Amino acid sequence: MKSLGSIKRISLDERLGLTSFNSDNESHIEVDNERCLLCKTKACLYVCPTKVYYLKDNKIYFNYQACLETGGCIVACHKLGNKGITWKYPKGGFGVIFKYG
Ligand code: SF4
Repeated sequence: MKSLGSIKRISLDERLGLTSFNSDNESHIEVDNERCLLCKTKACLYVCPTKVYYLKDNKIYFNYQACLETGGCIVACHKLGNKGITWKYPKGGFGVIFKYG
């Protein structure tokens, strides 16, 4: 870990280690693979820091339990992809729990 004045610089993996998740048994993400088949960019595969989305046998799969709720996937999918993602925040009390300090 490097120090920059009084600000500590930490890696992405270290940052991700500062989070935990209270996973719902119901996904807050849905993917329409009929739209994904026609998607030229597959932008969802590149924007998520925790790699929620992955491609297998030409289908998009996802691991909603690892979602940091940045919303980057929905923006990328709807601006650059083929609007295959439906995304909403997890129900109250579920989802990512950020720890500070
Ligand atoms: S960016 Fe959207 S439409 Fe394209 S593959 Fe990913 S989820 Fe499907």
